[in-house]
Formats: sequence, structure tokens, C-alpha cells
Amino acid sequence: MTHIITSLCLRDGGCIEVCPVECIVPGMPQEKWPLYYIDPDTCIDCGACIPECPYEAIFTEDEVPDAYDATGGEFIAKPSGTEGFDTAYTGTNHHGVEVKLDATKALEAGETVDLTEETQANYDFFEEGPGYWEGWEDHGK
Ligand code: SF4
Ligand code: SF4
Repeated sequence: MTHIITSLCLRDGGCIEVCPVECIVPGMPQEKWPLYYIDPDTCIDCGACIPECPYEAIFTEDEVPDAYDATGGEFIAKPSGTEGFDTAYTGTNHHGVEVKLDATKALEAGETVDLTEETQANYDFFEEGPGYWEGWEDHGK
């Protein structure tokens, strides 16, 4: 198994610093890979990353919700150009550095969303996408 970062991720970067096997990688290019991703072959399922995420975006693979109940005000992020994701998000990461995402959607209280799409995207990032790109270790530190 592995842990999965879902579309609730807003690139805070805190999870990277606690992973004992350094298997969390920021997506690049950000327009195509807006989240952070966990290498499923390296993750040891220790769970250390879960409490570090201010947006509660990380789940064990078998607990990724297919019907996540929004409390309202959460943002979910998708690759640029995704239909219905036309809101820009600007925030800061855990070091106070500005984060911008151009394809997000604010959830309303009571809205239910399927977060399981990110499970396959996470595998694709390492199998078909950039995976460990040069300099990823320094990102956000
Ligand atoms: S701590 Fe959460 S929001 Fe930040 S990069 Fe990790 S999963 Fe994304
Ligand atoms: S569960 Fe542990 S090993 Fe897996 S990504 Fe999170 S911190 Fe790293």
C-alpha cells in the first residue's frame, strides 16, 4: 500500500520535511501536476505526513474518500484547464512563501466530492510523469 495526496493539497510543503524516506515530491510543471505526490514504491506507510498537512489532504490508499463531505471553504486543485476549476488560489506555504494555483474550486458546506481520482494520478506521476525531478529535495525547505 501507500499513502495518497488528494486534490485538497495546496502545496504547503510541510509533509516533505517529516517523511523519513523522502518519497514526497512536489509536482512539476505545476500546471500539469498541481499537487505533491508520494512515491508508492518507497512509502513505508508510517503515517508521519498525515498530521503535518494543514488541509488534511493525505490518506492511506484504502481510505481515500470517494464521497468527501466538505465543511465549506476548502479548495481542491486540478491541472490547468480542467473544466469547472476556474478559480485562482493564492496562499502561503509553511515557510510563508507565496503559493499560486490557477485551477482550483472552493467547496461549499455539504458538497460531496470524489477524491479517488488522485490515486491513479499519484501512480502516473512516477510511472509516466516527471517523478523525482532535479532539485525536488530542496523544494520548500
Ligand atoms: S502538507 Fe498537505 S498541502 Fe502541504 S504539500 Fe503536503 S499534502 Fe500538500
Ligand atoms: S506515510 Fe510515511 S513514508 Fe509514506 S509518504 Fe507519509 S511520511 Fe513518507
